[in-house]
Amino acid sequence: MALNYFQPLFDVIRDKDRCIKCQACARQCSNEVHRYDADLDMMISDSQQCVDCQRCVCICPTGALKIVDNPNKFRNNSNWSQQIMTEVYKQAETGGVLLSAMGNPKEYPVYWDKILLNASQVTNPPIDPLREPMETKVFLGKKPKNVSFNEDGSVKTETTPTLELSTPIMFSAMSYGSISRNAHESLARAATELGIFYNTGEGGLHKDFYQYGPNTIVQVASGRFGVFKDYLETGAAIEIKMGQGAKPGIGGHLPGAKILEDVSRTRMIPMGTDAISPAPHHDIYSIEDLRQLVLSLKEATEYKKPVIVKIAAVHNVAAIASGIARSGADIIAIDGYRGGTGAAPTRIRDNVGIPIELALASVDQRLRDEGIRNEVSVVVAGSIRSSSDVVKAIALGADACYIGTAALLALGCHLCRSCQTGKCNWGIATQRPDLVKRLNPNIGYQRLVNLVHAWDHEIKEMMGGMGINSVEALKGNRLMLRGIGLNEKELEILGIQHAGQ
Ligand code: SF4
Ligand code: SF4
Repeated sequence: MALNYFQPLFDVIRDKDRCIKCQACARQCSNEVHRYDADLDMMISDSQQCVDCQRCVCICPTGALKIVDNPNKFRNNSNWSQQIMTEVYKQAETGGVLLSAMGNPKEYPVYWDKILLNASQVTNPPIDPLREPMETKVFLGKKPKNVSFNEDGSVKTETTPTLELSTPIMFSAMSYGSISRNAHESLARAATELGIFYNTGEGGLHKDFYQYGPNTIVQVASGRFGVFKDYLETGAAIEIKMGQGAKPGIGGHLPGAKILEDVSRTRMIPMGTDAISPAPHHDIYSIEDLRQLVLSLKEATEYKKPVIVKIAAVHNVAAIASGIARSGADIIAIDGYRGGTGAAPTRIRDNVGIPIELALASVDQRLRDEGIRNEVSVVVAGSIRSSSDVVKAIALGADACYIGTAALLALGCHLCRSCQTGKCNWGIATQRPDLVKRLNPNIGYQRLVNLVHAWDHEIKEMMGGMGINSVEALKGNRLMLRGIGLNEKELEILGIQHAGQ
């Protein structure tokens, strides 16, 4: 028997007094951790396969199960951590690139947690959102620089196409293939009910979801999967994906095992073949090339739809955003290094890119300095975890936020970070029919609606506390922010003062 160099990450603990041997855990675990041993008349667990998705814990009718971190540790070493050692063993065994899912989990600073909001006291009194009007509606797209007039003296009200959102939140790009049909249906129905938008990601649009077109952003990525005329015409906006926060600088890879019949039809690729999107768009090597694609997509849709360009937050993001604003795009989406993914090389996910907070602040400032801030809206993504993150992002200069992981959490995701295996026990990041049906879209969509309603209410409360009655008035209002525990350089980039100043 080959020697096993590493220990399981988790320990499955079963309280034998509570366990009634109903085998619900065995039926629910797609990783085949639990089994009933008839000879011993007891349930047995193989902790090695456990990914800590908590499905069995939630399902067990008697609360007999607990998943804990494996207390068995290699000898303490501040340099060679348990994780680093385990990864070396794994690569020595497989010779392969390490893959991970969801966002960067490392202990880099979370700047949202180092920024505090203001509240009115005595002067400029707070506004009570329960009694006074509070506007969370936003419009994404180009804004006129000045008020201009028609020949008859009336004010010109025509603008280039915009997206109207009831609240400054949208669901991030997540492709059909990387997530299940039921997850997509939940997102599409929730976006429609909420008056916001969900995003197809690079997987095309399933024909059953064309009905949600007015609340759909259709994506054009480097692989151009599922892109054709009807697709472009069905969406309310078109997003060109140049990069993604979880894996800047590289393409995408959906394993052939996930390309089942429906996914293959939607992506317009053969069943069972790997869907590999290249790192660059092979027709884009400059802002001029990008401009050609922006204008081609506008031409193809009769200039009726705003075009979004999505990039990862990287070192010179402000200069890149300035170029994009001049490319004719209407909206720039910036995805920070904490952004989620269905699968990414671990080293890329954990080491490439920059925090969305710093990227947003420098992009907004650069566009203002260059006098082109009204040319584009800025949408940020990459770990927007709560309504207070949204409020801070708006005050730092964003027009709206994309949420991905938070939306999946609302659907039941427990952040086990094993999406790349295709065995999601919560029916989200899987195409296995027995697992997909665990996510009921009737419940999923309602939970998403609840989440966004709750955030919308909290956004109003926070704005009211600051004496601000509209998202538009909060946008870029950095006086409402103070840093805590940040150094001079960080405060300078964020463009905010320290608490106490
Ligand atoms: S993988 Fe999930 S369902 Fe299976 S034993 Fe671990 S926590 Fe339970
Ligand atoms: S979507 Fe599923 S597999 Fe992915 S992190 Fe969430 S629970 Fe785990």
